Amino acid sequence: MKNFFIILIMKILNIGLKICGKHGGNFLGKIAYKWNPEIFKYFKVTSPVIAVTATNGKTMTNNAIGYVLKTAGKKVVSNTEGNNMETGILSTILKNCTLTGKIKADYLVFEIDEGYVPVVFKDFPLNTLVVLDFFRDQLDRNGEVESLILKINKFLKTYSGNLVLNADDPNVARLGLANPDNHNIYYFSVQKYDFATTFQKEAGEGKFCPFCKTKLEYEYYQYSHIGKFKCPNCGYGDNPIYKLATNIDLKNRSFNVDDVTYKIRFNSIYNIYNLVAVISCVSLYNIDKEIVKDALSKFVLNNR
Ligand SMILES: [Zn+2]
Repeated sequence: MKNFFIILIMKILNIGLKICGKHGGNFLGKIAYKWNPEIFKYFKVTSPVIAVTATNGKTMTNNAIGYVLKTAGKKVVSNTEGNNMETGILSTILKNCTLTGKIKADYLVFEIDEGYVPVVFKDFPLNTLVVLDFFRDQLDRNGEVESLILKINKFLKTYSGNLVLNADDPNVARLGLANPDNHNIYYFSVQKYDFATTFQKEAGEGKFCPFCKTKLEYEYYQYSHIGKFKCPNCGYGDNPIYKLATNIDLKNRSFNVDDVTYKIRFNSIYNIYNLVAVISCVSLYNIDKEIVKDALSKFVLNNR
């Protein structure tokens, strides 16, 4: 009963916000979460829930997945505005649910801050988690990124849904080993492109094997610590690839995955990584390749 009234009040507040011409950001979620931090348990979710997390590229990847699904005629509920903490996700749900907590959509697609993956999805069903990359910045002297990775790793130990992982980021690929009983692990990778290097331009990341602490060996770096790596001691890095982008052509803005050539609106390697993550994710839901190709040829950052 309590949750029913929380949702009712939030709906009224949302109407008020709309009248004032305001979007509200995470405002509704903030209040509702304060009233009941367990409110996520109340919602009745029958459609697949997809979440995207990373240090960089969350918004683009989230919005591109939503855009492809919408192009395929699906009804998508998503936090496209980038409110990616628990309160932002809750605001999106509150705006799109009935008073009894039903969410009417074919897919729920959320961008989520790395730290909130366990917070939201301990109480809310998750069907596919996409993880793009983990970067440390110069301020990360306390190992905050490492502790975020460990938090997600802990959550994944009991998770058996789809996991779409960047095979070329040693900070990400390690998550595929969190739960040996989960056979729904899908690694994506991007073939060496023209500007790959044999030395690392930026210092710092992913130098050591997370399992045996041996220095990782790189065949090449695509950018930063993203590239073809392997642990010479325990063999970490040799993962089966589900979707591989080949023929990377930044000038003509195109690449291939399987037998399809994707023409895109972007010309940087990190955007190609994001889009291969999108292709991997939507192919798990059997979205027609031609529709994906068409959607990605039109997708730009402000598509929502
Ligand atoms: Zn190792």
